[in-house]
Amino acid sequence: MKKTISVLGSGFSSLSAACYLAKAGHKVTVYEKNNQVGGRARQYEKDGFLFDMGPTWYWMPDVFERFFSDFGQETINYYQLEKLNPAYQIFYGLGDTIKISSDINEIYELFEKEETGSSIHLKSFLKQAKDNYNVAVRDLVYRPGVSPLELITPKTVTKLNQLFFDIRKQIQKKFSNPRLIKILEFPVLFLGAKPGNTPAMYNFMNWADFGLGTWHPKGGMFQVIKGMEILAREQLGVKFVLNAPVEKIGVNKEGEAKNILVNGELIPSDIVLSGADYHHTEQLLSPEYRQYSEKYWSKKTFAPSSLLFYVGFNKKLKNVSHHTLFFDEEFDSHAEYIYDTPAWPKNPLFYASFPSITDNSFAPNGNEAATFLMPIASGIEDNETHRKEYFDLMIDRLEKLTNQKLRDNVLFAKSYCINDFIEDYNSYKGNAYGLANTLTQTAFLRPRIKSKKVKNLFFTGQLTVPGPGVPPALISGKIAAESILKQIKL
Ligand SMILES: Cc1cc2nc3c(=O)[nH]c(=O)nc-3n(C[C@H](O)[C@H](O)[C@H](O)COP(=O)(O)OP(=O)(O)OC[C@H]3O[C@@H](n4cnc5c(N)ncnc54)[C@H](O)[C@@H]3O)c2cc1C
Repeated sequence: MKKTISVLGSGFSSLSAACYLAKAGHKVTVYEKNNQVGGRARQYEKDGFLFDMGPTWYWMPDVFERFFSDFGQETINYYQLEKLNPAYQIFYGLGDTIKISSDINEIYELFEKEETGSSIHLKSFLKQAKDNYNVAVRDLVYRPGVSPLELITPKTVTKLNQLFFDIRKQIQKKFSNPRLIKILEFPVLFLGAKPGNTPAMYNFMNWADFGLGTWHPKGGMFQVIKGMEILAREQLGVKFVLNAPVEKIGVNKEGEAKNILVNGELIPSDIVLSGADYHHTEQLLSPEYRQYSEKYWSKKTFAPSSLLFYVGFNKKLKNVSHHTLFFDEEFDSHAEYIYDTPAWPKNPLFYASFPSITDNSFAPNGNEAATFLMPIASGIEDNETHRKEYFDLMIDRLEKLTNQKLRDNVLFAKSYCINDFIEDYNSYKGNAYGLANTLTQTAFLRPRIKSKKVKNLFFTGQLTVPGPGVPPALISGKIAAESILKQIKL
């Protein structure tokens, strides 16, 4: 029977779930608190400049293809992809920079130049990483995370040991050049934890990096959101209500989610699915229906928050690439300020994206659009003084390392940080990327897709399975939709 399904939020996970649920014939409405769809992947526009506010790296193209193919579609029907070359650039210091090619053979050559014999190790490392990718991303991560047995399949039994030692150890066993180690540890940062706290199984991210490449959707990541919205709205009949913050999830005496309260109106619902941050969603319930205590959340390892700047420059920049990493400081000491003793970091690493190098829709002719991102701990004090201090630091470092004057060419610099994540997304402690994928926060050890206290209440997104990132959010939506469809059938 056709059910009325209310979906909270319009981030990647909610959009994905809404599509699957509508395809199965249900009446699906998405309620989004902000005035734009996309959640953390919204776009900001100013004076002819465009900025993806959140994700900028399009990795794992096969996951996006798989999503659209579930609806008889292809990505090309919604947006155009370009493989970036170089995939990205890293600065290690003054005049010391490396470009990562889109061609794997050039990457082997680069490794060999840096450390004799390392290309052989890289080949064997990537062979395992590819194998893990095929097992994990094509299968394991699509499982609902309800039982440890999900992880045990004929293909995984020989791999389970990789869940019990960390990726840093694995990399350092094979490579000793610190610059190569930094390159190889970079992809796991997307998972939100320190490499020393991330299971080696996640080396499939290295295959995603070197094997599958870095792509750019023309017009930015927001085009993917737009494509999913078109699919949902025009092809599958999903309704969208913007400026619609859900204030309460109503539960009846039988423990069933029955309605949601939006802008003073009670909306009857057979099923409620939330893609809003998990902790926030539980706050919309009376305390007896919450599964996880404040203590539970406070003990979790959250992925970092971020200080971001969306900057318009009135000239083209030299010596940078579309994705540029400033790794001229030590990650380990920066990571201490994120995970061990949360505070504003001394000597931080940062990342900058210059999409207008590749795509002229991002900036007026002769100008450059830039997004700066510095990872910081969730929950630390956020104020204008800190924001300004770190903007100056990043501009100084950019000028010095790329050998050009830029400060006077800044037309505007809009900042975005912890307080905005809380205000805009109801994010727990202002986290940017959700819950990290550590050994104790992987698969069935993550917050559940289906509430165990409220029948008909489900969760999706970066705080549940499989974890942070856009491809996992697409997968999370599919898992949540499948769990709902299974329950409806029973
Ligand atoms: C700065 C930044 C950079 C990133 N870079 C990358 C990258 O390069 N590549 C990558 O793959 N991933 C990246 N990520 C991670 C990726 O963007 C996220 O994991 C993903 O977009 C999360 O999607 P989601 O659906 O789980 O949550 P969200 O996108 O946060 O969606 C949740 C939605 O719920 C809404 N909401 C909250 N409360 C309510 C309420 N009460 N009622 C109604 N609606 C509500 C919010 O407004 C929001 O729209 C980045 C994230 C950030 C923040």
